[in-house]
Amino acid sequence: MDPEEFRRCGTDMVNYITDYMDTIRSRLPFPDVQPGFLREQIPDEAPFHGESWENVKNDLERVVMKGLNQWRSPHFHAFLPIASSFPALLGDMLAGAMISSPGTWTSNPVGTELEVSMMDWLAKMLQLPQQFLFSGGKGGGCIQASADDATFVAIISARAKVIKQFKDKTKGQVLDKLIAYTSEEAHSSVEKAAHLALVEIRCLETDDKFALRGTTLAAAIREDRKKGLIPFFVCATVGTTSTCAIDNISEIGPICEEEDLWLHIDAVYAGCACICPEYRPWINGVEYSTTFSINPHKWLHINPPCSAFWVKDQELINEPLSVDAMYLRVRSASNGVTMPDFRNWHVQLTRPFGALKMWFVFRMFGVHGLQERIRKDMAMAKEFEALVLADSRFEIVADVVSGLVCFRLKGDNAQNEKLLSMIDKSRRICITPSISRGIFYLRFCISVYTTESRDVVFAWEVIQHEADALLSS
Ligand SMILES: *Cc1c(COP(=O)(O)O)cnc(C)c1O
Repeated sequence: MDPEEFRRCGTDMVNYITDYMDTIRSRLPFPDVQPGFLREQIPDEAPFHGESWENVKNDLERVVMKGLNQWRSPHFHAFLPIASSFPALLGDMLAGAMISSPGTWTSNPVGTELEVSMMDWLAKMLQLPQQFLFSGGKGGGCIQASADDATFVAIISARAKVIKQFKDKTKGQVLDKLIAYTSEEAHSSVEKAAHLALVEIRCLETDDKFALRGTTLAAAIREDRKKGLIPFFVCATVGTTSTCAIDNISEIGPICEEEDLWLHIDAVYAGCACICPEYRPWINGVEYSTTFSINPHKWLHINPPCSAFWVKDQELINEPLSVDAMYLRVRSASNGVTMPDFRNWHVQLTRPFGALKMWFVFRMFGVHGLQERIRKDMAMAKEFEALVLADSRFEIVADVVSGLVCFRLKGDNAQNEKLLSMIDKSRRICITPSISRGIFYLRFCISVYTTESRDVVFAWEVIQHEADALLSS
């Protein structure tokens, strides 16, 4: 493909994307396919001779759209959001063309420095304490590929720190006794990180709002110290995946400080809302955390991968994660300014120039624009909650504080599972379930900016219609 051909095909692609977004309402929110569906749609082997763009484009509907969850559909209310926006797509396009990886400052000076600036911009939007800013002290932030990566980096760095403290013991002796804590409602990635780090983790009980409280954590630590274990790491969640419960950071933080435990805050969904002053109190106590993360790729209109991760002292993660290699040596600076080498902040070396799409989005939306999007989603969730509350057959399962509403039929789990399968069969909206303390419920999330008030009403009508059928059968 030569540059002129790219100009033609690129224009074609932009038109395809624009039409796709423009007509998204006409598509069903999730596909009618079974595992293995693709095998019959594409050849078993790559073509030996190259094909034309037209050939590829002609297969988009038949192959891609056939098996695609329409996350951009206004009727897609499953899981939690995955963000995308036109400004972010523009950034992604340019980043893909330049393929300059900010793994070290030398490998992409502007990519590194724009990431430094964007992480500071975002930290200021969230009113994070100075310690997390490059411009504020020893801390800073970077883009992680996902929240799973962020938690993994946090726990292996915490593990390295605590092993170093026990000079009289072997690594194995310490490792055997390490214990981490999180809540029973924490995301699966926390348990996964502990498994990868070869450390035990306790998933502690939550209160009646599904939040982890200080007293529960303190009791667990006491109990484990008595057994000779070494508590070292706590992951608190601001906005759990199941119900958007908010762990009590103001209680948990001081305990971590007193006990010298590494506190990681996973605020990946709800934390995005903390750019609005009225939601900022959710992360009160963030100054006690060693690491903190939110996912702009969830609720700040930036395409994945874009998980934002901060540490209050860069050395805490750089030391365990850096390995010297001559071919990665950085060009020495003559002005005395040091910039981070982001390869020492995670597992990846080659990584996207992700700061570009952040820069585009922050500038084109503006902080106010991003805040207004969050407020709009919150308001629509409240509208949905009001509809649920007005129907006495249903109940709300958890306080509605974000874009997520957890609800169920007053009745047993089996009936609610049946309701979900009927809603699925209708294929008009997409919602997903969860279970907390043995109670099965349905989750309705405002996931995408194409959703409007009328879509909230539509979704509720679909649910009521299926409930009518279920309850009269
Ligand atoms: C979505 C979610 C994650 C996982 O995020 P990824 O970026 O997909 O890894 C982790 N924690 C919470 C609370 C989440 O909601």
